[in-house]
Amino acid sequence: DLGKQVKIRSQLEQALIHAIERNEFEVYYQPQIKAGSGKIVGVEALLRWHNPTLRWISPATFIPVAEHVGLIRTIGYWILTTACQQLKQWQTIGLPSLRLAVNVSPLQFADPDLTSSIQTIIKDSGINPAQLELEITEGSLMWDMDRAIKVMKKIKHEGVDLAIDDFGTGYSSLSNLRHFPLDRLKIDQSFTREIGKDKDATEITLTILTMAKRLGMRIIAEGVETAEQASFLRKNGCDEFQGFLYSRAVPADQITQLLSESQDSSKHPML
Ligand code: C2E
Ligand code: MG
Ligand code: MG
Repeated sequence: DLGKQVKIRSQLEQALIHAIERNEFEVYYQPQIKAGSGKIVGVEALLRWHNPTLRWISPATFIPVAEHVGLIRTIGYWILTTACQQLKQWQTIGLPSLRLAVNVSPLQFADPDLTSSIQTIIKDSGINPAQLELEITEGSLMWDMDRAIKVMKKIKHEGVDLAIDDFGTGYSSLSNLRHFPLDRLKIDQSFTREIGKDKDATEITLTILTMAKRLGMRIIAEGVETAEQASFLRKNGCDEFQGFLYSRAVPADQITQLLSESQDSSKHPML
């Protein structure tokens, strides 16, 4: 009932306020796989929250709450810092150059200090900005297109790449995309899931692939769970995959292991 929901929500807000100081957040990493070679070419940083009383709670649920209570700036800064330090460490131990994708929520994107935060974090961690990619959603772009373009140009000016996440779920159209300085388009998992099952969704996926290519963007498909999906996507020009077929998001030590193995093996057996 409503009373119970309000109580849970307020518990969640209270718990979030203390999450950083109590060290409850952890960044997990999910590999991004090159379609042709089957090698890991990037990772996406995904936030996990270990709270003793709330147990497992998805970032899709608590990020909007963090936005609501004004914590997203602090949390966002922490994620970006942690992930960039990790990237630097991979470089230090001699792993091949890798792309790091970090999600930026609409409110973070609207924060006037976003670009200067990015600058500071890049400088302090000592990473190469060309290895960093920010994932923004259609919601960030459509609110105020002119402002979005300005912010994106500033980020690009820092040498950082930009990707559009969950593409196809919002209200932006493919033709709108040409206005934005985007490097990569992530096909949402709701399309990937329907490949070969639903005719319309499959057609839409093909259209997205063709249009994104024409607009000069690279394409990555999210939620790739089966070899059939991977094979369809590869055949139709999708550059990269991300999904459970290869690996879930895993803690830093596990991804480091996967990265070293990927460097050694010529190809992942599943692909
Ligand atoms: P997203 O950025 O689109 O991330 C992809 C989500 O799909 C992740 O869920 C990932 O674990 C999940 N996923 C990956 N492969 C598969 C697959 O093959 N099948 C299925 N069913 N799912 C797959 P996760 O980690 O729960 O994150 C959910 C959303 O929360 C993210 O969607 C993103 O919007 C947001 N989020 C996560 N971490 C952060 C963060 O650090 N900052 C911000 N602002 N948002 C974040
Ligand atoms: Mg993402
Ligand atoms: Mg997504």
